Amino acid sequence: MDPRLNSLSLKTSLSALLDLVLPRVCVVCGRPLIPQERHLCLECLSDLPETRYAPLGHNPMADRFNAKIQVDEYEPYAYAAALYHYRAESGYKKISQALKYHRNFGAGRWAAGLLGERLAASPLYADVDLVVPVPLHWARRWERGYNQAAVIAREVARVLGAACAERLLLRRRRTRSQTHLHGEAKAANVADAFTLRAKEVPAARHILLVDDVFTTGATLAACHRALRRAYGPQVRISVATLAAVGE
Ligand SMILES: [Zn+2]
Repeated sequence: MDPRLNSLSLKTSLSALLDLVLPRVCVVCGRPLIPQERHLCLECLSDLPETRYAPLGHNPMADRFNAKIQVDEYEPYAYAAALYHYRAESGYKKISQALKYHRNFGAGRWAAGLLGERLAASPLYADVDLVVPVPLHWARRWERGYNQAAVIAREVARVLGAACAERLLLRRRRTRSQTHLHGEAKAANVADAFTLRAKEVPAARHILLVDDVFTTGATLAACHRALRRAYGPQVRISVATLAAVGE
């Protein structure tokens, strides 16, 4: 057996063991949780900085996303919503980080379920029938062991009663880390990074593209472009993320 595979499965077992041994603490503030609390303490839960974008066709995130895609007579203004505001100085960013970096699937699914509920309560997203996660490049997925966007997409699809097409989009090349790139450089970095895996695509009326965090919207816009090449203008393509940077 490849020794790298051995060390990977050892790492996975160790982190599963640590989950059992370590006390349960609030993902946001780190305080120990009482038995009635899950993932967040009641105080952090009641202060969750929700965007409340789901009922709004126009909101700051949707405006920023639509500026990235070419809205015209064929491309309708896209809906976009996030569960909460991602702020550098706020502890709430730890919710998406817990899923992305610390394998906290429980907290990730919990937040994704809440996002799903907000979307399900909005008439704008009521007819979503296909949920599609932003894919990772295979090398990064292998490194991390999972795609955090797919974890969120599965849960959102479950709440919405929609199908989840986890492998519909393919990330062709490993884009450089986006962290140190800005604006135009970031857009160019991801512009043609995505394609559809198969020629046969599942039927859909309203597709929801899902990612963990909305930053500039460049990655989601590139995925939108790839989907639009396969789906006609009668299919609506919307966007949802756990968190949104800015505003
Ligand atoms: Zn807390």
